[in-house]
Amino acid sequence: MLGRILAGLMLVLVGVVVGAWGYATAVADAADAPQPPAVPPPPPAAPEPDPAAEPPTPDPVNFTYRYLDPLDPAMAATAARVREEDLLRRLPEVKWLDGLLLLPAPVTYVATACGKPDAYYLPAKREVVLCYETLHALYAQGEQLAATGGSALELPDIPADQLAERYVWANLRFIVAHETGHALIDLLDLPITGREEDAVDQFATALMQRIGGEDESPREVAQNLRMASHSFLAEAATDVSLQAYADMHSLGLQRYFNLQCLLYGSDPERFADMVDRGDLPESRAKTCPAEAQRANDAWVRLLAPHLAPAYEMTAEEAEAWLQGRARSRGENGVPAAVEPTPAKPL
Ligand SMILES: [Zn+2]
Repeated sequence: MLGRILAGLMLVLVGVVVGAWGYATAVADAADAPQPPAVPPPPPAAPEPDPAAEPPTPDPVNFTYRYLDPLDPAMAATAARVREEDLLRRLPEVKWLDGLLLLPAPVTYVATACGKPDAYYLPAKREVVLCYETLHALYAQGEQLAATGGSALELPDIPADQLAERYVWANLRFIVAHETGHALIDLLDLPITGREEDAVDQFATALMQRIGGEDESPREVAQNLRMASHSFLAEAATDVSLQAYADMHSLGLQRYFNLQCLLYGSDPERFADMVDRGDLPESRAKTCPAEAQRANDAWVRLLAPHLAPAYEMTAEEAEAWLQGRARSRGENGVPAAVEPTPAKPL
């Protein structure tokens, strides 16, 4: 296991020094957030949850998207590509959430140049910010991974020429889902104990796991999460300072193992090889089914009361819907074409 981690570390270090997705959250500004408007009257009859149904069509729209021109000419091509592809609007998890919840104010997703790889949520502006530099950094990591044929992740069934794009796409989705978690905690005043950073890592994991892309098979979903966790190893080499220990984020390796734990815990039988391979120590694995269940249940219960009137249901009904969706995805099983991924020169 140690060898695999070291191999991963070398891989990401050779590629690029990542700013370790700051995931900064200006929580101090949260108090300035506007008060929620009066809750609208409930609809005449709540719809029955249909486990076989596709994700509900968003209504009303909660999210808006902006692409800012970078001052740094080095980011110009990336910015043009991101805008042209309307990348932020295509993120499956964000698309699914848009309109699903009754938010007191819209969230704006902003792509911009920051001077370094980063992503963060700004409560005062209710903005989720994604830096163009992050895409560059992720792409460099993905290229390094592809250069080894994905050996650091043991993903032989992803063709080498698709690996970098898949890696960027998976990590991008996790990063933006993580920041969306911060936005929901702020806007819905969700009660969180423990570190918010850990809570939103759990949110992003659950969202990618249980929602994912509409055509993604469970196998692809697991691959996405493994690729997302891999990038935490990039932080592991730089987070041995006192500052890192004092940081609001868990250490990179801790975030890596936490995500492995949530993935394994979601289906220990299916992911038994994670323990066999040493991706997850057996001592931790024992508690992972309960950890994954608790994190999932907590987020369903936290968000269910905030569903938009058109989707109103109890936490139990929401959980039944999610389980039905998971079953139908498992039955479909066959990986469909993966969402086109951002290609070079991101
Ligand atoms: Zn964060």
